[in-house]
Amino acid sequence: MTKSRLKIIPLGGLSEIGKNMMVMEYEDDIIVIDVGLMFPEEEMIGIDLVIPDISYLVEKREKIRGIVITHGHEDHIGALRYLLPQLNAPIYSAKLTQGLIQVKLKEGKALDGAQLNVMPPGEEITLGKFKVESYPVCHSIPDAVGLIIDTPVGTIVHSGDFKLDYTPVSGKPTDLSRLAQLGAQGVLLLLSDSTYAELPGYTPSERVVGETLDHIMADAPGRVIVTTFSSLVSRVQQVIDAAAKHQRRVFIIGRSMSDTVRMALELGYLNVPDGILGRLDELRGMPHNKITLITTGSQGEPTSALVRMANRDHRQLHIVRGDTVVISATPIPGNEAVINRTLDSLFKQGAQVLYSKVMPVHVHGHGSQEELKLLLNLVKPRFFMPIHGEYRHLSLHATLAQSVGIPKENIFVLEDGDVLELSPLAGRVTGKIASGNVYVDGLSVGDIGSVVLRNRRMLARDGIVVVIIAVNKQTGKLVGRPDIVSRGFVDTREFKDMIEESRDLVARTLDHSGHRSAEWSFINTKVRDILNRFYYEQTKLRPMILPFMVKV
Ligand SMILES: [Zn+2]
Ligand SMILES: [Zn+2]
Repeated sequence: MTKSRLKIIPLGGLSEIGKNMMVMEYEDDIIVIDVGLMFPEEEMIGIDLVIPDISYLVEKREKIRGIVITHGHEDHIGALRYLLPQLNAPIYSAKLTQGLIQVKLKEGKALDGAQLNVMPPGEEITLGKFKVESYPVCHSIPDAVGLIIDTPVGTIVHSGDFKLDYTPVSGKPTDLSRLAQLGAQGVLLLLSDSTYAELPGYTPSERVVGETLDHIMADAPGRVIVTTFSSLVSRVQQVIDAAAKHQRRVFIIGRSMSDTVRMALELGYLNVPDGILGRLDELRGMPHNKITLITTGSQGEPTSALVRMANRDHRQLHIVRGDTVVISATPIPGNEAVINRTLDSLFKQGAQVLYSKVMPVHVHGHGSQEELKLLLNLVKPRFFMPIHGEYRHLSLHATLAQSVGIPKENIFVLEDGDVLELSPLAGRVTGKIASGNVYVDGLSVGDIGSVVLRNRRMLARDGIVVVIIAVNKQTGKLVGRPDIVSRGFVDTREFKDMIEESRDLVARTLDHSGHRSAEWSFINTKVRDILNRFYYEQTKLRPMILPFMVKV
């Protein structure tokens, strides 16, 4: 009898940055690792968020024994509020991660009935035939973990997001001794973070940011306004420490930042000296060099306090000359343009703006090449699978693995939906399941398909032309010349002649088509064909063409 195989199926996060989600399946048991979201790319017009397609899991939902979350970043927990009701499985995570999940589920009104469990590092939980244990890793959020998964086929190590910071700001450094111990015992498969596999060397320690913030607080003539991700609790701690050292009080601005800070205080992840945190109404009359504000808005989110301040649209707070604004975050790909606009308006209003291109006010949380190699060397897996990254990151990570001696045939570069089947001695991609993007647009989840997106792109790029065709009710003959109205296509004054010519073109075509001219589907196709060709020849644009028929 052949033994069952273990299936490893990425549903998101491979060949893209974001919406990380991994499925492990053995016989009748499934575990899911991370349920993240992705921020839309620029061409996904009007889309707020992207989440993984989980149709594969929904069919097998009775088999899901648990959802294990590595840490509280949006690309690992962000889709839970949309997908948890369909998965309906218990969630396991570290304590702060649980707090962040709670905040997000509550926001999405999905907290009712959620089963949230704390999984302390080093303690093993049993999920069907899987046994899962977490170990602490360093990342840009406290309580991040990697996972050690004991399966009937062998041991798997999932790195989560990690770097090797030997002097982290909060939390423990990555537990290298536990990994070395596992390596000695034998690891079947390592799944490891590839986000920064392009960068040689080592990622700098969080301490670097602490020192920079210290200098900024000391030298700034007025208020210091720091923006970062609300989940970057260790960064908030660094800001509070630097502010306290220079006798500045700290004010938290914005709902999501306030919610996170309150939760982190309650759970003991933030350490704030007495009298440092202030209420907004205490700001009035305080000397500016005694003030530090912490706010979200580092990604240019239009409703965030920072962006509203930058646009002179905030009720209580305005940027004044002498303010120092610190952007302590890197842009998530796709957000660069809006962030740059925010930077420009802040400068225009007289603020000094500091961001990572001009000063080390942010270090990222992912390991560079030497750290990735160290992990590979410690864990010494038989098989290796790069995760979390665009295809080039995965590919470069695979090359790194080869350079430390893992044979090429034991390295699997997968994409979302690929099914990797593993036995103790061999691994093979055996198929592909449905996977991909589900678009969240306002309140609707998954109703936006690729056709809608294609239309939005077309409208945004080349505009729209509406053709109004009047025909006689009785005879079906054209009445007068068709009217043409366009938006976003060409300057209608400059292209007046071309538009006139296209009206004649439509009239001639319909005149020549005899009694068929009243048949709507005929007119519709004919007019679109003709104008498409004509406008493309004249302008090299392909506006969306919408013919309308009016019977008079
Ligand atoms: Zn992360
Ligand atoms: Zn991540």
